[in-house]
Amino acid sequence: MNLIERRFRSLSSFRSKQRLIIMLSCSIVLLTTMISFLVYSFFAFNQDSRERLGMLSDIIAADVGAALAFADDQAVSKSLAAFKADESINQIIVLNEQNQVSAFYHQKMDKMPGNLQQYLRELRSKAGKYLFVLNPVLESPVSRDGIHLGSVIIEQGEHVISRKLAATTGISALILLFSLLFSYLLAERFQRLITEPVTAMATTMQEVSYTKDYSKRVVTGDLDEIGHLAKHFNEMLAEIERRDISLIERHEELYKLANFDTLTGLPNRALFSDRLEQALRRASRTGECLAVLFIDLDNFKMINDTHGHLIGDKFLQETAARLAAGTRAEDTLARLGGDEFSVFLQDVKTTENAMMIARKHVENLFPHFQVDDKSLFASASIGVAIFPKHGITAEVLVKNADSAMYLAKEKGKNNVDLFTDSLDIKLSEKLTLSTDLRKALELDEFELYYQPRINLEKNTWASAEALIRWNHPDLGIVSPDKFIPLAVQTGLILPIGEWVLREACRQLHEWHCQGFQLPRISVNVSPLQLQRQDLLGIVKDVLTANSLCTQSLELEIVESALMEDMGRSITVLKELRNIGVKISIDDFGTGYSSLSYLHALPIDILKIDRSFLWQVHESKEDEQIFAAIVAISLSLGLEVVTEGVENIEHEQILKKYSCHEAQGYFYARPLPAADLFQRFMTTKMGLNDVRLQSFENSKPCCCMLANGPASRCGDGPKLLCA
Ligand code: C2E
Ligand code: MG
Ligand code: MG
Repeated sequence: MNLIERRFRSLSSFRSKQRLIIMLSCSIVLLTTMISFLVYSFFAFNQDSRERLGMLSDIIAADVGAALAFADDQAVSKSLAAFKADESINQIIVLNEQNQVSAFYHQKMDKMPGNLQQYLRELRSKAGKYLFVLNPVLESPVSRDGIHLGSVIIEQGEHVISRKLAATTGISALILLFSLLFSYLLAERFQRLITEPVTAMATTMQEVSYTKDYSKRVVTGDLDEIGHLAKHFNEMLAEIERRDISLIERHEELYKLANFDTLTGLPNRALFSDRLEQALRRASRTGECLAVLFIDLDNFKMINDTHGHLIGDKFLQETAARLAAGTRAEDTLARLGGDEFSVFLQDVKTTENAMMIARKHVENLFPHFQVDDKSLFASASIGVAIFPKHGITAEVLVKNADSAMYLAKEKGKNNVDLFTDSLDIKLSEKLTLSTDLRKALELDEFELYYQPRINLEKNTWASAEALIRWNHPDLGIVSPDKFIPLAVQTGLILPIGEWVLREACRQLHEWHCQGFQLPRISVNVSPLQLQRQDLLGIVKDVLTANSLCTQSLELEIVESALMEDMGRSITVLKELRNIGVKISIDDFGTGYSSLSYLHALPIDILKIDRSFLWQVHESKEDEQIFAAIVAISLSLGLEVVTEGVENIEHEQILKKYSCHEAQGYFYARPLPAADLFQRFMTTKMGLNDVRLQSFENSKPCCCMLANGPASRCGDGPKLLCA
């Protein structure tokens, strides 16, 4: 049994195992049947033999009855002689009444053995065994008329049953073999019906695990157990396929999220850097040049704040589409974040080529964008850095292109600039400057200069603009144009701006106390101060601390500040204006110069930029534009001030178009406080230029903040406040 089990386990295929089971079962059944049949045949042969022996013994008994009665042994022997020819009879013994042998016949013996009684006992015992012998023996009595005359013992030869048994066994064995063969063939045929779907399933499973193609299915066939197995197997595959698809989808989604910008669909910074690194590796092998373009929109913040994020998003999508249209398939365009985009150009032959492509992008972005029902304009500044000239790593190239972009912006936006090593030096100087700037306030290195503003009608000093100067220990006086943008970038403009406001107001108060009745002081305010500082609180505090009325302060805000953060800036300006502080738009004409929104802004004064005035002489159209700006401003009830008056012709133009006030070198350059006071004193004494009259006649302001302390001016003339 163990052997069969071991053999069974050693078979590798299901088919062989199944075949072995079938053949084993068939063999056992057939063998059992054959053995039963043989046993039965043996009994049947035995039975037949006995019946035959019975018949023979009856014949013999009838035949020898008379001879026995007369004890005629010879006649008995004669009767037996007739059976000698029958080979199936081994021996016949006829006994008389005294149990003595009257006659006998034996196939092989001529005389009876010496120990007759012993021999007869053995024969009779065989007769008693009935069905269990090969040579059945039968003893029949011989009688006549009821008188017992003796008996006949007859034995059949062994070969009769043996031969029959051998023939039966042979035939049975043949049948068995045929049956086994037939069973084998049948098993072969039918087992295929069972194993085929199982094999198909195994093959499919193997294919699926190898190809990972879960769309494969097996044929289910009949709905028996195997059919059910195949059906469930298919269901399992379908489930895996579903999960696989959703896994792939999720994987794709994750890949997209990690590598692409969701708004524009462009590669994001991570993918861009990765592709750029690859391109750089290739370019350093092949010796090609590569260009990185850093693109920044000039006025996106304004669009976003003015029209809302929805329009802002659509605008960015449109921008991305325009940039993509101008990008070759082998180049990569990406959105780095906010309104920053970048492109790297492969195999750039010359720097000029890269600059040309950058300029093309600027041109493409310039035409107006139609977003919903809005017509919007955007310009872009682009910085260009070339591999390997300006850097050999992705990080350095992007950083340098970014620096070049800042240079382009500084040069007036809507511009393209190439990175240069001097730009790097400039940037490192900038870095040193910003480090020094942090300490400048603490070290008291700032000073305010003042430039008077002239009332053209009365020819009096209407106001003075406070202009900051930085007395750098090594660099000398640093112009605000150099460090104010840096202060804005670093956020230092907040403490610096507050200092300017406090210092300017303190100075005005001091002048008032000294009898220098300058009606107003104007202070430049950075957009950041409107957005991040409690400007209203600071202004109130400063005015109160210096006992100044609110109208004696004017805040100058550059045009772009209002456009960049419309909502918050306008709210703060309204609050300031409500308390009486004058608000002016500075450098009008350098930014968007949109006259259409002027009426919506909470402003009192419009300061036209000097460049506008200087252009007036160049053409008739320029003069007409200047005249139109002044006329519209006046019609809106605004005071008009023009900067950059450098000569008498400039002044005449202002007077021609009825500008209220003028500011420029023609009257005075920005001066330290003490020098301006000196100028005032000499003007008052009529020692200076006749154009600058004293403002003794000008009216002092009359609007003080509630609860403000009384002005303390010492011996100087008192401020006349209501
Ligand atoms: P701004 O507010 O437009 O100031 C006028 C600038 O024009 C001053 O330059 C002044 O010196 C110059 N200017 C005046 N008249 C003439 C003229 O007739 N011809 C020429 N060529 N220039 C003239 P400055 O002082 O160098 O200031 C430059 C800019 O720096 C200012 O422009 C202002 O935007 C900014 N700034 C100055 N001080 C401060 C400050 O305290 N805070 C802030 N946020 N910005 C300031
Ligand atoms: Mg100004
Ligand atoms: Mg100005």
